[in-house]
Amino acid sequence: MIDQKSALVCGAGGFIGAHMVKRLKREGFWVRGVDLKYPDFNKTEADDFVVGDLRHPDICNKSTDRAFDEVYQFAADMGGAGFVFTGENDAAIMHNSAMINLNMLESSRAAKVKRIFYSSSACIYPEYNQMDPDNPNCSEDSAYPAAPDSDYGWEKLFSERLYMAYARNYGMKVHISRYHNIFGEEGVWTGGREKSPAALCRKIAEAEDGGEIEIWGDGKQTRSFLYVDECVEGTVRLIRSDFMGPVNIGSEEMVTINQLAEMIMTIAGKKVSLKHIPGPLGVRGRNSDNKMIRERLGWAPSQPLETGLRVTYKWIEEQVRNAGKI
Ligand code: NAD
Repeated sequence: MIDQKSALVCGAGGFIGAHMVKRLKREGFWVRGVDLKYPDFNKTEADDFVVGDLRHPDICNKSTDRAFDEVYQFAADMGGAGFVFTGENDAAIMHNSAMINLNMLESSRAAKVKRIFYSSSACIYPEYNQMDPDNPNCSEDSAYPAAPDSDYGWEKLFSERLYMAYARNYGMKVHISRYHNIFGEEGVWTGGREKSPAALCRKIAEAEDGGEIEIWGDGKQTRSFLYVDECVEGTVRLIRSDFMGPVNIGSEEMVTINQLAEMIMTIAGKKVSLKHIPGPLGVRGRNSDNKMIRERLGWAPSQPLETGLRVTYKWIEEQVRNAGKI
């Protein structure tokens, strides 16, 4: 096809990356994916898929051997609270993700990539602004003085600065989001790296009506959750804009973890009791602040949490059934 646009998706075997590949294919892009592995739940739709380790410069160079219109950098060593907040994986998280970003950015510069997107996280926000579950402050300008509560967050903040420095010194077109808890179908739902919406969907799917599930902490910690389709929409809008960010891409519908569990029970048509047990938690409260994205992109996520949860629960229930757990 003449003038066909092309995109490189790093982390295309992961949750958001695989959804992004589908979106770009629907738009008619030629897409190359790169990841340590193929997607877990579906065949990739990428035209070309490099199975390789982006910590190594030769794989980064090989991946950027053509003039891509858009590069999306999602690859990271990552997981939910059970992976990120125990402290046991800090060295690997920092080392692996920093190596990926250092090498990908340098290869992209050498290859004269037109636009590069980097997926940072709400985990960069200072812990001191997220102590009150009812009033967390996650406006973009509250990031400094920096005090993330995890080394995962520190690496993201370092890499944000790295991308901004490349924009400043080399004139690269860089776009940075701070994602807030993305969820949806075809994401990790078991095994220790899953996040709270997927973990709760699984526990409720596995539980009997009238049974009991375990929740880490008192369940009064607050979060917002963004359905993956809106995450992909915001990401595409950001990379095609003149706005570099960093900008929040998240939902402003803040709920407690107990409320999230109640919503999933209603969707499942089950009533289970919640047993609160000690576990890795993260900050007390967190919510997206969408003032900047509204102002700069004229768009912000708007879908109610329940809509995405319905789709996700149905998909996870199916996985649980296929695994013979119900
Ligand atoms: P994911 O774990 O599903 O995807 C990341 C992918 O990167 C995986 O498929 C993994 O195999 C790949 N990867 C890891 N190390 C690699 C390496 N050395 N070489 C090549 N590939 C490698 O995660 P996700 O939920 O899709 O998140 C995508 C990005 O968004 C990540 O950078 C993450 O930190 C960021 N983010 C996600 C969320 C969220 O809620 N999902 C929130 C904030 C930020």
